Amino acid sequence: MEICRFICVRSNQGLFPWGHVNRKLNASCRRWIQTKLPDKSLGDHHNFPKHVHKSDDLSLIRNIGIMAHIDAGKTTTTERMLFYSGFTRHLGDVDDGDTVMDYMEQERARGITITSAAITFTWKHHKINLIDTPGHVDFTFEVERSLRAIDGAVTILDASAGVEAQTLTVWRQADRYDVPRIIYLNKMDKPGASLDLCLMSIMEKLKVTPLLLQLPVGSEKHFQGIIDLVTMETCIWSKGNMGDGTEFKLSPIVQSADSSVWEKCIKARTSLIGQLADMDDGIADLVLKDVAVENIPVSDLLSALKRVTLARKGVPVLLGSSLKNKGVQHLLDGVNHYLPCPSDRHYPFAELYGEDLCALAFKITHEKQRGALIFLRLYSGSLKTGSSIYNVTRKTSEKVTRLLQVYADMHKDINHIHAGNIVCVTGLKQTVTGDLLTSSHTSYKKAVESYGKQNIDNLPGRSAESSSHDDQGDEEHEDNHFFSAQLTVPDPVFFCSIEPPSMAFQKDLDIALENLQREDNSLHVSVDKDTGQTILAGMGELHMEVIKERILKEYGIEVEMGPLQVAYKETITESSEVTERLDKTLGDRHHFVSMTLSVHPNQTGQDFKAVELRHSRENNLEAIRHHHLQAVNSGIKMGLCAGPILSFPVCGLGVYLHSLEIQPGTSMAMISACASQAVHKAVHSAAAVLLEPTMHLEITTDEDYLHFVMSDLAQRRSHIQGVEAREQVRVVKAITPLSEMMGYSTVLRSITSGTAFFSMELAQYEVMSLSEQNKVLQKLTGFLPS
Ligand code: GDP
Ligand code: MG
Repeated sequence: MEICRFICVRSNQGLFPWGHVNRKLNASCRRWIQTKLPDKSLGDHHNFPKHVHKSDDLSLIRNIGIMAHIDAGKTTTTERMLFYSGFTRHLGDVDDGDTVMDYMEQERARGITITSAAITFTWKHHKINLIDTPGHVDFTFEVERSLRAIDGAVTILDASAGVEAQTLTVWRQADRYDVPRIIYLNKMDKPGASLDLCLMSIMEKLKVTPLLLQLPVGSEKHFQGIIDLVTMETCIWSKGNMGDGTEFKLSPIVQSADSSVWEKCIKARTSLIGQLADMDDGIADLVLKDVAVENIPVSDLLSALKRVTLARKGVPVLLGSSLKNKGVQHLLDGVNHYLPCPSDRHYPFAELYGEDLCALAFKITHEKQRGALIFLRLYSGSLKTGSSIYNVTRKTSEKVTRLLQVYADMHKDINHIHAGNIVCVTGLKQTVTGDLLTSSHTSYKKAVESYGKQNIDNLPGRSAESSSHDDQGDEEHEDNHFFSAQLTVPDPVFFCSIEPPSMAFQKDLDIALENLQREDNSLHVSVDKDTGQTILAGMGELHMEVIKERILKEYGIEVEMGPLQVAYKETITESSEVTERLDKTLGDRHHFVSMTLSVHPNQTGQDFKAVELRHSRENNLEAIRHHHLQAVNSGIKMGLCAGPILSFPVCGLGVYLHSLEIQPGTSMAMISACASQAVHKAVHSAAAVLLEPTMHLEITTDEDYLHFVMSDLAQRRSHIQGVEAREQVRVVKAITPLSEMMGYSTVLRSITSGTAFFSMELAQYEVMSLSEQNKVLQKLTGFLPS
């Protein structure tokens, strides 16, 4: 305590710049200082917005995400945003490992963003809630959840590379959530930076129309500033203030001053207005009235650009160099001008709650002292300290203890928060990432009623059977997907066993895994029935490594992890039909079920959802009771959890029910057990095969190493899809089985002397050849199949 006070006092005298001291402290020490000396300790480094609005004016709120390929400059750009908004007085640098946003120790060490951190700052009277999103494919699900919490996004491209693989993945994800976006071409100072390359790749790969709003002044290392086509101004950044970007010169573009700049600007503005006239009636009107290009008012352009962005007809493109402190202020203006405020967006799942609270828990982190910190996005209603809430997903009530406004790894207590905002709460014991919360059970019932009225007949993916009359009450409402903000959890592709160093640590390990799972629903923990071992399943090598390191650092347990194995699936290649009978007396209760069902391969590759009824005059399936059908479905799901080859889940099949006979008094558990056995037998005799995950692979390498990369890929059962030339680099695209990709980063580094990098994304599950399947069988069981 004394030492810290000494540092602060000394820092006030200017002997120790606090920013410097602060950077050297770890997060928990900083937090400790914050609790002891709240104002002084933070005031020097972080300029907390004193009143961040009463937040009633939704038009002044922007909930945004930043998304891009790894290394495009997300973290660097965010740090600049925080700096220019006055939130920090120090420019963070990812290469020094001292950024505000990448606050987890591992992120600093690895120079990547693992968990998305939320941060609030103000820019020109707007309150910006920014969610940083991880770029690595192993943390894709983090991106999905963030996409649900934001209203708009900034996509950052490396101007020397254009659209890269991970950008495309995240872009597609954002499409699914209908998120309006603007694009920022970063690294305009870098050798090879090319506006044309970027615009071309935006059109070809993202398949959208870029609306170029700025032109660069100078190129590559001579990049000095921008020509703003909307305001018709040139902005040149000067070297003042150590080149931190706070000093720049704005000059209006006039014909008399420099005719070449004028012509360039008019040409580009004409083309922008031409594009907008095709997309927006307001601009089309002005063009038809023959208003000269230079006279089209800025305000008309701004509002048209916003409408076009929201309707996703075109994407505004801005440019800059975050590292060289150029262009970020204009990017922030762009966020305010073009991206939506919360009320511009339409969230069908939230509208059911009317004025009541509807919030999504989009992220959870754990802290030793405070326990679980739950990040909420409020879509409707408001929340106060001490309020009770009802968790729609888990069907439980809980109490919020504290509300905190978040500033990366620091928090400030607040008393209440309104719709449209992002807030962090404590006190919720059972809430898991992805859960939807409302004010009370009554609010939930009201929502279910209005949902029923609107949708009961035409729900997506809702079969006729499941919408038939429901005698379990609305607590059993089926369409959980809708009531969990329509988030889809990805299947894990890797798994391994995990063990504590000794039995004394087992309980602590269980707690650690429970907490980690609450934070991250793409992490799956189960217990192997045969060996009793704890099994961890996740999204990739890095994901598992990060989990291991976190268990050590945050929970002090040095776990032993077994070798990483690919999560295969199983499917069938033939149809088969089975009749199963269960006739049992347990105690004084007699159970009798008899059913005939059949399984059929389908090409969707999807998991089983619900049995299809095959009506006939004899079987009377028309009259099937809803809870009997539910018992059959859950039995089939159970039966498909473990396939006949290696007990991997079975997918890519349809299940038909041909007859069902149940005698009165039979329990639901017995009906499920019978269905489970029936489907198990049917799959067994339907020529099952193994499916393996294959990955879309994109490798960027120097031309000189292309040959080594290609010959290595050939040994990994890869299908090469193409090689693209981009200046001196070559971009190889391939589809490769995941099992061939273990430890690939190390191999790639060694065969290309560290010059190449790669990214991958799950392509699909593919049927394995018999010889490959046999190799897997031998590896996993030790036996060669006969
Ligand atoms: P992230 O992975 O998207 O968060 O990217 P980072 O912000 O961590 O940046 C990745 C690398 O690119 C770092 O070495 C940065 O210094 C560098 N970088 C970021 N912005 C720029 C830029 O504008 N120009 C240049 N030349 N390098 C940049
Ligand atoms: Mg980063």
